[in-house]
Amino acid sequence: MTVDRPKFSEPLHVGRPNIGDRARLADRINGALDRLWLSNDGVLVREFEERVAALTGTRHCVTTCNATTGLQIAAQAAGIKAGDEVIVPSFTCVATAQALAWIGVVPVFCDLEEKSAGADPAHVEQLIGPRTRGIVGVHVFGSPCPIDPLTDVAARHGLPLLFDAAHAFGNTYLRDPIGGFGLAEVFSFHATKFVNSFEGGAIVTNDDEFAERARTMRNMGSNGDREVVSTGTVARMHEISAAMGLTSLDAMDEFIEVNERNHACYLENLAAVPGVQLRSQPAGERANHQYVVVEVDERVSGVHRDQLHAVLHANNVLARRYFHPACHQVEPFRSRAELHAPLPLPRTEALVDRVLALPTGTSVGVEQVRGICELIADAVRDALGDVAP
Ligand SMILES: *Cc1c(COP(=O)(O)O)cnc(C)c1O
Repeated sequence: MTVDRPKFSEPLHVGRPNIGDRARLADRINGALDRLWLSNDGVLVREFEERVAALTGTRHCVTTCNATTGLQIAAQAAGIKAGDEVIVPSFTCVATAQALAWIGVVPVFCDLEEKSAGADPAHVEQLIGPRTRGIVGVHVFGSPCPIDPLTDVAARHGLPLLFDAAHAFGNTYLRDPIGGFGLAEVFSFHATKFVNSFEGGAIVTNDDEFAERARTMRNMGSNGDREVVSTGTVARMHEISAAMGLTSLDAMDEFIEVNERNHACYLENLAAVPGVQLRSQPAGERANHQYVVVEVDERVSGVHRDQLHAVLHANNVLARRYFHPACHQVEPFRSRAELHAPLPLPRTEALVDRVLALPTGTSVGVEQVRGICELIADAVRDALGDVAP
């Protein structure tokens, strides 16, 4: 679809990086250059790990080159091996499932629980079979998944529970910071996440032995005494990443404030638009609001999510259909449904058809948010055939 004149002359992106204080970033990078210490537990990486552990109230933070590799290390450090099955929601970034598949683990996809869009604990329990060796929950869009019920299921079956917390850095569950739940949680600091280290990830845990195994696996299986003691990969974070990570942490509260402001502006301006519902964060919890996600109910709005997506793109609003398609709907999983998704996943399949992520972050101002909401309201009004008052 094209329009004569797009509403925005410059494209508005989902996941534009937040930059923070450039001078501070440059100072930190220059410090690393002066020290001639660029990777392998440099001072910036260690400071970043300390601050992430402190912010998440955890005993250990093991940074990684990205969250995908962090998930692989966490799985291996939890004793999950090639050929094992791990239950994971299908409604997530495909990286969650690919991380497991790449180390020979079979992701078995569960359906979602509607409120949080995270794993449905009852369905997880139903899928547990003789080859199940773990559960990975995902805090989708930063909303904590049903942590307590999943913890119960995992404990009842003696399974390690890990969380992909890529969206939930800085968020809380029942007032406690995300990070300390399950055996370990994994954050992403990819450039598109609201706190970023260009590329990067972190495994956080309160388990001393698990942390030691993860730290060793991250560095060729070599322990603190430089003895090779286990299988391993190379997944270290380097000093430039940590420099950016620290600079992001310095500005984290400002980033959240901007995201909250944008979220409130979307909420206000979409409140009267029928069939377009903003997904909310649980009341009383801290939330980073890094994703603004609407659900489009075509029966009420008259437009399908894909039509709205096309209207927005034609106007330079580069909205994203997160997460469409779901993991079980893409290769290599789709062709082997008998292995990965033994049951239909009706709630996942319904939600992937309705969700649309809208631009937010420090590169997006309230005037632009209002403009985006106008485009959406106009599209719905046209579809419903109303005449503007
Ligand atoms: C971004 C993301 C990842 C992958 O993070 P990387 O740091 O890019 O490897 C994994 N899971 C979810 C839910 C994500 O959004």
